[in-house]
Amino acid sequence: MSNQSVWETCIVCEQLKDQGIRIYTKFLCIDCEKEIIRTDTNDPKYHFYLQQLKKIMNREIYS
Ligand SMILES: [Zn+2]
Repeated sequence: MSNQSVWETCIVCEQLKDQGIRIYTKFLCIDCEKEIIRTDTNDPKYHFYLQQLKKIMNREIYS
């Protein structure tokens, strides 16, 4: 396990977090990642998450 924690602003919740994944130059925190995974695809929130991700992906996300 790595000890280094780099605080970055999550692109979904826009809060500073130290755990998460990098997508290209952007950062998605582990909380939002989990939230996205467990959110039902029919939930409007899921759509919001996808929009946020699309902003950084610049292409369609397979869903
Ligand atoms: Zn987040």
